[in-house]
Amino acid sequence: MEEHGNPIQGAPMRARIAQNSPNHKNGNLVKNHLLQPHLDNQRKLRILSQNRLIEIFIKMNVKNNFMKAVIKAEPKAGLEFRDVQEPKITSSSQVLIEVRATAICGSDVHILEWHSGYEFMPLPIIIGHEFSGEIVDLGLNVKGLKKGDRVVCNPIVYCGGCSYCKAGKTNLCQQFKLVGLDYNGSFAKYVLIPQNVDLYKLPDTVSYEHAAIFEPFSVAFHAIEESRIQPGDLAAVLGAGPIALMLTQLLKLNGVSVVVTGLSIDEERLKVAKDLGADFTINVEEKNPIEKVRDITGDQGVDVIFEASGDSNCFSQALKMIKRGGEIIGIGIYPSPSPINFTDVVRREIKIKGVRTYLDSSWRHVITMATRKMLNIDALITHKFPLNEFLKGFELLKQRKAIKVLLTP
Ligand SMILES: [Zn+2]
Ligand SMILES: [Zn+2]
Repeated sequence: MEEHGNPIQGAPMRARIAQNSPNHKNGNLVKNHLLQPHLDNQRKLRILSQNRLIEIFIKMNVKNNFMKAVIKAEPKAGLEFRDVQEPKITSSSQVLIEVRATAICGSDVHILEWHSGYEFMPLPIIIGHEFSGEIVDLGLNVKGLKKGDRVVCNPIVYCGGCSYCKAGKTNLCQQFKLVGLDYNGSFAKYVLIPQNVDLYKLPDTVSYEHAAIFEPFSVAFHAIEESRIQPGDLAAVLGAGPIALMLTQLLKLNGVSVVVTGLSIDEERLKVAKDLGADFTINVEEKNPIEKVRDITGDQGVDVIFEASGDSNCFSQALKMIKRGGEIIGIGIYPSPSPINFTDVVRREIKIKGVRTYLDSSWRHVITMATRKMLNIDALITHKFPLNEFLKGFELLKQRKAIKVLLTP
């Protein structure tokens, strides 16, 4: 007991240490600050007013220092809605955006349910990577943008120095990161955009709501720009999710005939695919899609398949639907390896290609097409909720009762 002491015994001990410190030995500290205050009155005043300014500054900030955000806090199922500090510019290359519209992505649903494939995320983190908004602050080194600009964000954070970045392929950057998965995202009032992220100014005629889903549209655009599809071809789009419906629109604009496949749960989405111009839709639980494609093509198979279902078995199915010399484009993220008969790939010279996210060109084309009113975006935005009701949107998406759900902070 005695050795540990008590608070009263502890106090003189700290005082002793202070008296023995070098400043007290030579007495300078005491002399300058207590015994001769008249020598430095101006300096003291300056310090006082500085302190006062800091106090005022802190008070101003404290007033509006917190915002609600959707957070992935722990590596298990669930999301939290809680107060976090509003972000502020801390380096000359950052941009602060007030989020005006943000959309829930299929990957956000996977993050909510904590399916495998997202273990890399630094937790806790604010999620959300499909968004548009207004610039409210920016660092001195940011060129070509200003406060008040309406922008949409390409959430790739690239290094800018690797061979892929130098070749314009930021989607293959060796240090590839994403706002909303590696950096705090858009399910909040503000999002702080780090260095090396591309923002695109929106024309006045393009709404924030439409722009909030340019990210998945850019994914679909990139899949097509990487494919061998030609006008007059027949393409199959496997899966009836948002990307599949965006692919359908873009393929029709390219003069391509389109088959879209889905499950019974996708019945509503297959109807939307029809409305968007799909030539054939197949409910694979009712009809064998391989036989149906043979019927349509006279046993030939389709020219290009866009695999957007994320179902691990779809590649072996795709191999039976593709024609000789045809191409299969993989876009989905698969929960397990997708086994295929590679001898079949060799003997029929099938091309298989994966595509990841998008390029700068994909974004520019999507923005141009939206500006020219070439895209039917309203058909895809089925629900809108205030940010605090985000779980309603996630639930609808889980049940596939929605296509794109917008949240407004
Ligand atoms: Zn997304
Ligand atoms: Zn890079």
